[in-house]
Amino acid sequence: MTQKILLIEDNPISRKMVRITLEAEGYRVFEAADGMTGTALMAEEKPDLVLQDLLLPDINGFDLVWQLRELSHDEKIPILALTGLMGKADAVRVSDAPFTDYLFKPVEPSQLVRVLRSHLASSQPSQERSGNSRRVLVVDDDPVQLKLIATYLNHLDFAVITATDAIDGLTKARVNRPDAIVSDVLMPGLDGFQLCMKLHEDAALARIPVVLRSNLYEHESDKELAHKVGPFALVPTSPDFHEVIEALSNCLDASPGAIAADPDALRAAHEERVAFQLGRQAKLSAELAQRCAAQSAQLSVLASIGEIFLKGTMSDQKLLKDILARCLDTIGFSCGAIFLIDASGHLALSAHLGFSEDAAKSLATFFGCESMLEDAMKQQEPVALCLSAGFDQALVQSLSDLRGESLLVCPLRFNGEQLGVIVLVSSRTTADADKITFAKAITNEIGEVIALNRSIAKLQYFASYDSLTGLPNRAQLCERLQAIKANGKHAALYLLNLDHFQEINNTLGFQNGNQLLRLVARRLKEKFHKGAMVARLGADEFAVMPDEATEVRAAGERAQDILRCLEATFHLDGLSVAVRATVGVAIMPEHGDEGETLLSHADMALRAARRTGHDYLIYPTSVEPYSADRLALLGELREAIEQDVFLLHYQPKVSFGTQQCVGVEALLRWPHPRRGWVPPDQFITLAERAGLIHPVTVWVLSRALRQAQLWRNMGMQMGVAINVSARDLQEPGFSELVLHACSSTDTPPGLLTLELTETAIMIDPAKTVTAFQRLSADGIRLSIDDFGTGYSSFTYLQNLPVREIKIDKSFVINLMADSRSEAIVRSIIVLGKNLGLTVVAEGVEDQRTWQRLAELGCDLTQGYHICRPLAPTDLVAALKKSPWVEKTNESVNVQAL
Ligand code: C2E
Ligand code: CA
Ligand code: CA
Repeated sequence: MTQKILLIEDNPISRKMVRITLEAEGYRVFEAADGMTGTALMAEEKPDLVLQDLLLPDINGFDLVWQLRELSHDEKIPILALTGLMGKADAVRVSDAPFTDYLFKPVEPSQLVRVLRSHLASSQPSQERSGNSRRVLVVDDDPVQLKLIATYLNHLDFAVITATDAIDGLTKARVNRPDAIVSDVLMPGLDGFQLCMKLHEDAALARIPVVLRSNLYEHESDKELAHKVGPFALVPTSPDFHEVIEALSNCLDASPGAIAADPDALRAAHEERVAFQLGRQAKLSAELAQRCAAQSAQLSVLASIGEIFLKGTMSDQKLLKDILARCLDTIGFSCGAIFLIDASGHLALSAHLGFSEDAAKSLATFFGCESMLEDAMKQQEPVALCLSAGFDQALVQSLSDLRGESLLVCPLRFNGEQLGVIVLVSSRTTADADKITFAKAITNEIGEVIALNRSIAKLQYFASYDSLTGLPNRAQLCERLQAIKANGKHAALYLLNLDHFQEINNTLGFQNGNQLLRLVARRLKEKFHKGAMVARLGADEFAVMPDEATEVRAAGERAQDILRCLEATFHLDGLSVAVRATVGVAIMPEHGDEGETLLSHADMALRAARRTGHDYLIYPTSVEPYSADRLALLGELREAIEQDVFLLHYQPKVSFGTQQCVGVEALLRWPHPRRGWVPPDQFITLAERAGLIHPVTVWVLSRALRQAQLWRNMGMQMGVAINVSARDLQEPGFSELVLHACSSTDTPPGLLTLELTETAIMIDPAKTVTAFQRLSADGIRLSIDDFGTGYSSFTYLQNLPVREIKIDKSFVINLMADSRSEAIVRSIIVLGKNLGLTVVAEGVEDQRTWQRLAELGCDLTQGYHICRPLAPTDLVAALKKSPWVEKTNESVNVQAL
C-alpha cells in the first residue's frame, strides 16, 4: 500500500522539492502550508509519517507537534521536524518536544529518503520485538544516525544507551555494562576498530560482542581486520538497519571470539584500513558536496525564476530567455530553446540561447524534427535522448556542430494544459538522473510562471483595453491625455454617445447590441486610423482624439465628420439599423489641462447637446451645467403626474378637400403655479429621460378619448390624435392598453390616431412592427409625425401599416420662402399619394401656405392659421365661429375622416 506522508511546510520551494523527491520514491504526499491545514490533514488522511517545519506562519512548530500527537491515531507515528537554523530558545525545547527526529534544511534528497524509510520501517507494527530489554550501547558520531538506530532498537525492545564517540562509549560501558555494542567505524578520536581493541584490553568489557557498522561500504580487507580485532560483525548500513539488527541478534546469542595475537601487525593492518576508509569517505563526501551544490543550484534557479517573474511582467520572450539562461547555467548544458504552443495550436519557437546564428535559423522547425518535439511534449516527464542512433541526420549534424551529444526535452504544462517544450542540448552523451529530476522540478515551475505571466498580460490588457471592441478604454485615454499634457501638446477630445442605444439593445437583443458597438468601433477606427485614438469609455460612449490638435474654430467640422461617418446604416442580423449620435467636444488646454477635467467637460458638452437636441456642442459655449433647476422641474413633473394637474389642448385638423374639421390633435399642457405654462418640448423630453412618459401617455389617452366621447354625445363625430413616445411601444401590453381605452369609452377605433415620430419607430423596429400590426388590425390609425426629419430609410413605410404622414412644420413654415423646403414638401406629398397615405401638413401659419399646399394635393392641414391648440370649451366655441364646421341651429356637426 502506498504510504502517506504529511508535509507541513510553508516555504513553497522547499515543499516542492520534498514533494518531488518523495513522490519519485512512490510515497503519496499531502502538503500543508500552515499548521491549521496540517492538523486537518492529520485527522483526515491519517498519514504514516509527518514532516513538519518548525517555523510556520500560524503556529509555533513546538506547539504544533503536540497537537499532531494528540490527533494521531497511532502513538508511534514518526513526526520529523524539518528545521533550518535554530535559535537558542528553541534548542532548549528540542529535547522536550515529541519529535521522532530532526532533519536540517536544506535536506539532501537521498538523505531525506533514507531517514524517512528507516522511520517508516521502524514504525511498522509487523516487526518482531526481539530485544527483550537487553542493553545495547550505540556509538556514533553522527547524531542523526545515532538517533535513528536508537529509535529502531528501542522499538525492538532493546534498552539503548547512546554515546557520541568511542571514549564516551567506553565510559558509559564501564558504568553500565551493555549486553552488546553497535558502533560506527569512522569516528573522530578513536575509531570503531580502536574501540574494539580498547574493549579487549579491559577485562570487564572484553567479552561484550561488538557490531561494527560501516556506513560506507564493506571490503574484504575490512572484514578481515574486523574479524581480527574481534567484533562479531562488520556490517554495512542499510536504511532499515536490517544487517545491524541481524548481526546484533546473532552475537547476543553466541560467545565472542578471541582477540588476535600480534598487536603490532594488527595495528598496521588497522592503519591501512583506516587510511583506505578515509579515502573512500573523502570521495563520497566530495560526491555528496557536489550533489548538495546541485541541490542548492536548483533551489536558486527556482527562486530566481520567481524573482524574474516578480520583477514585473515582461514579454514571454524576455521572460523565457532569462529563464533559459539560468537553467543552462545551472545544469551545465550548452544551449537550449523554448517552444510554446501558439494560438493556432502549433509549437512555435519562443526563445533560444547558445545556438550559433546558423543553427538558430533552422531552429524554428527544430532542424526539421518538429514531430520529435511534439511527441516529447505529450509525455508527462522529461525525455532524455542520446543523439547517437536513429535520429534524423540533419539534426545530428546540426547538433554535433554545436558539440551536442544528447538532448533533454522537457514538456511544459500548467494545470494539465500543454504549454510547450524546453529543449536543452548537452555535450554529454547521457543526461544523468539528477539532471532529469532537476529538469522536472524546474519545468513545472517554468510552466507555472509562463501561465501566470500570460494571465497577468491578459489582465493588463483588460485594464487598458475594452474587451468587446478591442479599443483602448477610459484608463488608457486618460493616460494618453496625461502624456499629451506632459509634453505640453494640444489635443481635441470628441466624446460621442449613441442615441437610443438602450432601446436598440432591448429590441434587437444584447448580442446585436454588442455587434453594433463593434461595428461602430470599427467604423470610427477606419475613419481615424494613424495616430488618432479611438476609445470606448462605457456602454455606448466612445471618444475620438485625432492626432492633430484642432482649434476651437475647426472643432465643429471635425464633430460633423465624426457624425457623418456614422450616417450609413449598419447591418445587423439582416436588419439595417440607422444610428445617430451626439458629440461633445472639449479642447486641451483651452478647456482644461488635466485628462479628467477635459473628459468631464467634453461630457458636459455632450449632455448639453442631448438636452437641447443639438448634434454636437463644444464645451464652454454649450454648457449650462446640470442645473438644480432642471432637477427641481423633474421633481415637480413627478408631482404633476401624481396630482393630475395636466390639461389637454386640442388643435383641429382640417381637410383641404371638404374644408371641414375632421379631427383634433391632443397636445399636453402643464399649467405650473410658478413657471406658467411649461412648453411640452421641455417637459416631454425630461419625462422621456426620467422614464415617466408612459404614465403621461396613458393619462393623455384616456383623457382625450373621454373628451371625444363627450363631443360625440354633442353630435361632433371627431377623430382624435394623440402623440405616442418611443418608450410607450416598449411597454409590454401597450396595444392592449390602447384597445382597452377605446372600448371603455365606446370609441370606434377608426377615430383614434396614434402619432409617432420616425426616429421613435427606428429605435425599435421589431417591436414597432408587432405593436403597429396589432393596433392597425383593430382599426386604429397610425401616423408618422415630423415626417422628413428622421434619418431613417423609407423602407419601413412598406412594412408598417401606416395610414398617415405629417410633414414636419419646419418644412411647412418655410414652404414659401425656401425652394428646398418646397421640394421636400412636394416630394413627401407625392410619396404619400403613391403609397395611399393621408398627408397632413402641420404648422400652416398663413393663407399663402394653405393655398400652395392645396395646389400640391395635400390632404389635411393643421396650424395657427386655422386654429391654435385650445382648451375643449374654447375649441368648441372657436369651431362654432369658424367655417370649418357645419352648423345646424345651435349645434355643430363634425364628421370624422
Ligand atoms: P407635435 O406633435 O409636432 O405637435 C405639433 C406642435 O406644433 C404643437 O406644439 C403645436 O402647438 C405646434 N403648432 C401647431 N400649429 C403650429 C403653427 O402653425 N406654427 C407653429 N410654429 N407651431 C404650430 P406643442 O403643443 O408645443 O407641442 C410640442 C411637441 O410636444 C409636440 O410636437 C409633441 O411632439 C410633444 N407633445 C405634445 N403633447 C404631447 C403628448 O401628449 N404626448 C407626447 N408624447 N408628446 C406630446
Ligand atoms: Ca403630433
Ligand atoms: Ca409634428
